[in-house]
Amino acid sequence: MRSSKALPKWAGMNDLANTPGKTPERPPRQRKPDWIRVRAPVSEGYQETRRMMRELNLNTVCEEAACPNIGECWSKKHATVMILGDVCTRACAFCNVKTGMPRAVDPMEPERTAIAAAKMGLEHIVITSVDRDDLPDGGASQFVKVIEALRRTTPDTTIEILTPDFRGKMRPAVEAICAAGPDVYNHNLETVPRLYPTIRPGARYYASLRLLEEVKSHDPMIFTKSGIMLGLGEQRLEVHQVMDDMRSADVDFMTMGQYLQPTPKHAAVEEFVTPKAFGAYGSIARAKGFLQVASTPLTRSSYHAGEDFAEMKAARAAKFAKQAKRQADTLKI
Ligand code: SF4
Repeated sequence: MRSSKALPKWAGMNDLANTPGKTPERPPRQRKPDWIRVRAPVSEGYQETRRMMRELNLNTVCEEAACPNIGECWSKKHATVMILGDVCTRACAFCNVKTGMPRAVDPMEPERTAIAAAKMGLEHIVITSVDRDDLPDGGASQFVKVIEALRRTTPDTTIEILTPDFRGKMRPAVEAICAAGPDVYNHNLETVPRLYPTIRPGARYYASLRLLEEVKSHDPMIFTKSGIMLGLGEQRLEVHQVMDDMRSADVDFMTMGQYLQPTPKHAAVEEFVTPKAFGAYGSIARAKGFLQVASTPLTRSSYHAGEDFAEMKAARAAKFAKQAKRQADTLKI
């Protein structure tokens, strides 16, 4: 990684975004800076994970979203399973997943997901899905079945789910999923509210925030997590506002990563945010009280999810211990 001194002239221009009179030069679109480049996936571990996903006929967001971390994650047998098929009913401007009319829900998918977790010996698994606005429950019951199958087959595996917003059916969907007891409930806000009409037109920012609040109201012990992409044209103060909104919904873990344009048809990258700027955003988020923050150019919702979950649990335990000590000290006075 470059030192900040060696950064190109345009790097970190978001820092100047609110400075009157300064018009920073923009980089040529899509030329990735050094800190984004990743190694091609070639390891034996990668091939094994790929074979297993094919054999079990499972989709992964790693492949469907063309994730830059696939070489690293799959080498360590860490993949994010994408349930409910590989066709999404929405067409977000940032997402590489196919759009159209999805096929019927596969009743064997929960069992196959559990088999994959067992074969890979996973301590922590991340499950996500496409949007299924065509289903009466938005696909919530399939999340429940996957959680139940995992609890039966690999009871020691901790479960993180990353769900859609269940538009129009959020309350019953969240209630059913929380009752199944995932360890972490993630729902991404994806970007700042001003950019929703162009970047996430089928969704509503405040509906997503309400979903995160709803999870905590059902079970305050479920860890909640949410993230945004940077580089879509958001301003620094807008990102700070999203952090405040997440904290007011009692979100425990915030992720921030660089948006990358999957194909020329998708939303353009407006800025490659520097690692230093990611670090600064991370520090601000920590100061705002999140239990855990991941903020680097290559951060994705599920990147290093297992390690981060362990750290988040430890952070909560330390927080509770501190609160208990404070209460005990108060009683002594
Ligand atoms: S970061 Fe997440 S989506 Fe990307 S390869 Fe790793 S597990 Fe898959």
